[in-house]
Amino acid sequence: MINNVLKLVRYNIKKLRPYQSARRIGGGNGLIWLNANESPLSIPFKLKKKSFNRYPECQPIDLISSYAKYVNLSFEQVLATRGADEGIELLIKAFCEPEKDAIIYCPPTYDMYQVNANMANVKIKEIPTIKNTWELDLLSIQSNLKTVKLVYICNPNNPTGNIILKKDLLFLLKITLGRALVVIDEAYIEFSPEDSMVSFLKDYSHLVILRTLSKAFGLAGIRCGFTLANKVIIEILNKVITPYPISIPVMDIAVQSLQKNYITLMKDRVSELNLNRIWLINQLNELDCIDKVFESHANYILVKFFMFEKIFQMLWNKGIILRNQNNKMNLKECIRISIGTRSECFSLIQELKNFSKNNIF
Ligand SMILES: *Cc1c(COP(=O)(O)O)cnc(C)c1O
Repeated sequence: MINNVLKLVRYNIKKLRPYQSARRIGGGNGLIWLNANESPLSIPFKLKKKSFNRYPECQPIDLISSYAKYVNLSFEQVLATRGADEGIELLIKAFCEPEKDAIIYCPPTYDMYQVNANMANVKIKEIPTIKNTWELDLLSIQSNLKTVKLVYICNPNNPTGNIILKKDLLFLLKITLGRALVVIDEAYIEFSPEDSMVSFLKDYSHLVILRTLSKAFGLAGIRCGFTLANKVIIEILNKVITPYPISIPVMDIAVQSLQKNYITLMKDRVSELNLNRIWLINQLNELDCIDKVFESHANYILVKFFMFEKIFQMLWNKGIILRNQNNKMNLKECIRISIGTRSECFSLIQELKNFSKNNIF
C-alpha cells in the first residue's frame, strides 16, 4: 500500500530534500536559542479584534497601508504574505515555467530559494560568491542569464552577514534589464537600513524586494512578510496568492507592530542587538578556539572555529543551540550564531573561555 502511494508522488518531490529549519533540526534541552536569528525578546501584544467568523480580506487594507507608510511606498507596491518565504514561492509560481526556466542564487545563502525551485521543478543555477569576501561573481551571473527568470540576492546575506555592494546590485539591475527579475531578500535590512534598495524601485521595474516581521520586529511567530515591487508585478503575484494568506489575528498584531511607538521600540532593540554583536565579536576575537569571525551587518555572525565539531556539541550539551554551517558551500567548520541578549552572549563566551582553557589549539 505504502509502495503504491510512493509511486504517485511527483519525481521532483520524491527526491526533494526539505528545508532544514531550526525548528525541524530541534535543539534537545536547549536553554539559549541562538540558531534561528529570532529576536531574543518578545513584545507583549494584545488582540484587538474579537470576532473571527468572517474571512479576512485577501490583502488587508490597514496592513498594506501601514507597511507602505513604513517603507515610504505607495499602496500598490506592497503585497502582504505568509512570511517572506511565501513571497519567494509566489515569484517562482508566477514567473518560472517548470522544467524550462531557471533561477539564479549565490551560495552560501538562504536555502529557501533552492528548495522552492526544486518543489516547483524549476531549474537552478548556482553562482557561488567569492570565497571569504562573499561578493557577487557578476561576470558569471551575466554569462549565465539564459533561461533565467529570477535572480535571488540576500542582503545582508544569510548566513555570512555581509552586505552586497550597492554598485554591484546596480550593475546586476543593468545586466538583467528586460531579461529577468532581481529579487533582493532584505529580511535583515533593519540592522543595516542604509543598504536597502527600496529607493531604487522607482527606477527599476524589474526590482523586487522581500521583507519580513520575523527578524528585527521580533514577530517570527505570526508569519507575516511583504513583497515590494512595481504595481504590475504586485498585480501578477496577487493572481497566484492563496485567497486568505493573512489571518485576522496576524493582521491585528502586524498592524499594531507598524505603529509609530512600536517602530521606535523595534529600532531601539536593533541598536541594542547591534551593540551586542560588536561586544560578542570583540570577545570572540580574544579566544584561542576561533579561526575567523566574519564581519556582519545583521543579527547573527558567522564564525570559523578550530575543533568546530567538538565545540558545537559541547555548547549543545550545555543547552546553547547554534546553527551548524559546515555542510554549506565554502563554509567548512563554520557556525552561525544569532545575537541574543547580552546575558546570553555572556554565557556563550564563558563556555568558550572554559573550553579554550582546557584544550590546546
Ligand atoms: C528568516 C528569513 C526569511 C524568512 O522570513 P519569514 O518571513 O519568517 O518567512 C527570508 N529570508 C531570509 C534570508 C531569512 O533569513
